[in-house]
Amino acid sequence: MIITFQLGHKLAKADLTKPIDISLETKEKTGFKAWYSPAVTSNVIRGENFIGSVKEGGSVNFKEVMINPHANMTHTESVGHISKEEVPVNGVLSRFHFIAQLISVKPTLMGGNLEKPIQKGDLCILKSAVEDKINPRAEAIIIKTQPNLEELKTKNYDGTNWPYLHPKTAAYIREKGIRHLLIDQPSVDKEFDDGMLLSHRAFWNYPSTLDQESTITEFIGLPDELKDGMYLLNLSMSNLKNDASPSRPVLFSIFY
Ligand SMILES: [Zn+2]
Repeated sequence: MIITFQLGHKLAKADLTKPIDISLETKEKTGFKAWYSPAVTSNVIRGENFIGSVKEGGSVNFKEVMINPHANMTHTESVGHISKEEVPVNGVLSRFHFIAQLISVKPTLMGGNLEKPIQKGDLCILKSAVEDKINPRAEAIIIKTQPNLEELKTKNYDGTNWPYLHPKTAAYIREKGIRHLLIDQPSVDKEFDDGMLLSHRAFWNYPSTLDQESTITEFIGLPDELKDGMYLLNLSMSNLKNDASPSRPVLFSIFY
């Protein structure tokens, strides 16, 4: 199924039968995780004359699943993640398709005089890594920081001090008009930052404003062969009233 859509002054096309899934599969035991959270678990529901397992003789499989969107899932979050005001992420999108730009970056090893929470030896995505690269048509930016998609599917990020966005980079991305930020790390911020969350705050410009449109999507997984450039993004998520929701971002190549 080929669709045609307006992109600037041109008519662009995308083939909806060729999705590029950039979410990571969440699974029990061996799934990826961060924040020292437990892996995903599930329990078969059992009651009097009922067992939620066909294998065990029940008529249906019926399980409850314990998840933590921030810790063991590809997830999308709203400013509600850091605000005292309640802003559930399932209410922020008024549409689900966006023009997105994929940019691969090489984080910089930090040294010298640094401001908290940045420390010597941290890997930071500096403004220079994206400066002058953002296409004015982009509504979403997808930041690729690491290769080896296979490894990301089972990676345990606990205590790894992953690469993160410098707050000035997050502010710059916002200033460029980007409303949706996606990254292949557990967070846009440093693992241990004493709760400062400077890049989350900078991207949402919080608390100066209460941005109820923009989102951050973390823990995405980008195929190794995917090239930098412009894509059509379908950002879909569960309709769960919460600051973060499991999500499934999917890309489509754009052609003319
Ligand atoms: Zn999160």
